[in-house]
Parts: sequence; C-alpha cells; structure tokens
Amino acid sequence: MTKIFYEIDGEPVSAEKCMWVLIAPCGCECAWSVAKYWTTEDEAWDGFSRSKAVRRRDEKLGFRVEIKRSTEIRIKDDCPHVPKFGVEPRPELEGHTWAVKSEGRVQHLVPLVIEKNSLSPRNQGLVRAICGRSEDYIWSTWRSDLDGRVECTACVKAAKGGAE
Ligand SMILES: [Zn+2]
Ligand SMILES: [Zn+2]
Repeated sequence: MTKIFYEIDGEPVSAEKCMWVLIAPCGCECAWSVAKYWTTEDEAWDGFSRSKAVRRRDEKLGFRVEIKRSTEIRIKDDCPHVPKFGVEPRPELEGHTWAVKSEGRVQHLVPLVIEKNSLSPRNQGLVRAICGRSEDYIWSTWRSDLDGRVECTACVKAAKGGAE
C-alpha cells in the first residue's frame, strides 16, 4: 500500500501521525480532522467548510488550513480573543432567527423564533426574510440545512442598520 507522508518542518511525517487543522484569523485552532480523510490542503478546506461559499468567506476572513503533527494540535474549547476566533459575530435581532428555506443557498434572518434544529412553527403563512429577497412557508434551523450556507449579506446589513 502506498504510504502518504507530509513534510512538516522539513521532516517527513506519515499521514497517520498528522492532522488537518483549521486555524482562525486570531491564530487559535478551531477544528481538526485526521489526515486520512483528506489528502490535500484543498480537500481539507472543502471538508471543513462544506461548501465553496463558506470556504470563500472563511478564506477572505483569514482562516487557514495546515497539516500538523497530531501531538502538536492545540484545539481550545474557547478562544480568549476578542472578537472570538477573530471574527465579528453575525448580528442577531430580537424575535428573529437565522434560517434557510427549503433548498435555500444562504441563511436569512427571518421574523420568527425557531429553536435550534427545528422547523418554523406551522401556520405562519408566507414569511419574508428581513432583506426582502426571500420568502417561504417553512424555514429551517436544522444543522444539516445550515451546514455550508453563508449568511445573506443583505440581511446582515439590514440587521446592523436596525440595531443602530
Ligand atoms: Zn483566538
Ligand atoms: Zn436575506
């Protein structure tokens, strides 16, 4: 079987002893995966971000992907930096939730309170996102629906404007 080695600090290290890490703009490590699932940095990026849109956003924000020795991984439960992980948190609005409509590509801020991992309450009728660009009868906060979806920039703008 072909063995894969990565060069770390000028030394070959076998893949079983390596991990891919996602490093936040502040320098904290925020996610990792054993190297055997992804061979290249490119695959690791796609694996961490789950979509091209999230990857583009995170690369722009300054996130990096690196291969490291498993013994050198320093994942912290909490990041001591402000803002956390070097990224301004997305705005929240009282009485609103970030959610996606069925087969939606982005998360919108909708005037509904939806629990985590749930669908919007029934009988709400057609609900329109605060950006006015998207509407649906059912909105979802299921993790599997949110995964890989970035926030709608118009909703972010509208929420910030509303908070000032
Ligand atoms: Zn940090
Ligand atoms: Zn929106």
